[in-house]
Amino acid sequence: MANLVKIRRPGTADAQKPQTVDPDAPAVYLETFGCQMNQADSALIAGQLGRAGYRAVRDPAAADVILINTCAIREKAEDRVWGRTSQLLRHRSDNPDLVIGITGCMAEHLKDKVAARAPYISLVAGPDSYRSIAELVDRARGGATVVDVKLDKAEVYNELDPHADDDGISGFVTIQRGCDKFCTFCVVPYTRGRERGVPPREVLRHTRALAERGYKEVVLLGQTVNSYAYEDGDFAALLRAVAAVDGIERIRFTSPYPVDFSPRVIEVMASEPKICPQVHLPLQSGSDVMLERMRRGYTRGEFLDLVGALRNAVPNLALSTDIMVGFCGETDEDHQQTLSVMREVRFDFAFMFSYSDRGITYASRKMTDDVTPEIKGARLREVIELQESHTRASHEAMIGQTLDVLVLGPSKRGDKTLGRVPTFHKVLLPPGAGEPGTFVRATITGSTGHSLLA
Ligand code: SAH
Repeated sequence: MANLVKIRRPGTADAQKPQTVDPDAPAVYLETFGCQMNQADSALIAGQLGRAGYRAVRDPAAADVILINTCAIREKAEDRVWGRTSQLLRHRSDNPDLVIGITGCMAEHLKDKVAARAPYISLVAGPDSYRSIAELVDRARGGATVVDVKLDKAEVYNELDPHADDDGISGFVTIQRGCDKFCTFCVVPYTRGRERGVPPREVLRHTRALAERGYKEVVLLGQTVNSYAYEDGDFAALLRAVAAVDGIERIRFTSPYPVDFSPRVIEVMASEPKICPQVHLPLQSGSDVMLERMRRGYTRGEFLDLVGALRNAVPNLALSTDIMVGFCGETDEDHQQTLSVMREVRFDFAFMFSYSDRGITYASRKMTDDVTPEIKGARLREVIELQESHTRASHEAMIGQTLDVLVLGPSKRGDKTLGRVPTFHKVLLPPGAGEPGTFVRATITGSTGHSLLA
């Protein structure tokens, strides 16, 4: 089928390309690991490099500069980055001047180790260094080894314009950077620095720019997105302001933090039709002892009360979560508590992880990673199995519903049309069911396990 390739509507994502694309301009290949915030940061990096005269390429073999935007949240994520980096290194043999750089969350603890760990890396830039990324890349291309990992309490990248390589329909808008929670297991405050809000005028400028390019959905991003604050403005006020932008029909946000769900935010979710009935609410553990040890700031009971309040306010709310098994000192009783919260809430979807010790954190320094890999593995399997049954049941419960589907384009295999319902579930429609960026009414007829059929 002709529409096997990702559709880029003219005047949408293409409009973001730098004005002059000189075929002789130095070529950058940028690969992103990790969360949506990293994807949004990659768009920021691409925007800065594009304006400085670099040209983006999709083939690392054609690149003069390879940048890997990294994730440090678990050891496995880092291992994946290293595996990929050594694969990409082979392009050096065809191009001895090739610059390979690492950006993002692994930068901080790499700063003193590059020479020993990866001497072939000539650029390390942290999450607060992207304003001058082009200059840093220029210097690396000039032969220097460049390390800039300073975290900056104020940097929110005002006035910069990201260049996203996305579908031109659903776009990210970063509204907050960093994190102040300091959960004992988590590296984020160390890799991304302290929490700061992006000024509302900038959030609205980005949202309007997306609307003008034909985007229909925005996803507001922050590490604890609902703790958003800028001067006297809060997250509820920002949601209302974003909802007033013409052309944007759907608003999502990720990830909210359980203790920061104010009644005002719940009220806006209940009353503003553009805000999608979907919340990703990281639970981590169902045991009060573990939650306390993780320094999450809520109890199992408070989490369940919040779920109740959200479900009361927003009918048909889809709830997803993050669960982490095997944190320091977790007993079988604690684990059973997690399973019991899962059974009580019946999340529609979950990301599930085994605890991974991250050197710099409070847990790493003061607690013992004493749950064996075998027990972690067994608990994780149990959690995954239970969640799979809930996900299946949640899909089945949707069969027969008629919903508005935002059409995104052809499915990966090209034989169907991919869309999303308000609850964020992916839906496969018959081929040619609608133009990308339009809405169609569709009745859910079945499920493939990962997607709904309609
Ligand atoms: N701000 C989010 C965290 C984002 S990190 C929050 O409210 O918790 C995404 C997920 O990665 C976390 O929710 C957690 O489940 C997992 N995670 C974080 N640190 C981890 C670690 N050291 N080991 C294993 N999983 C971890």
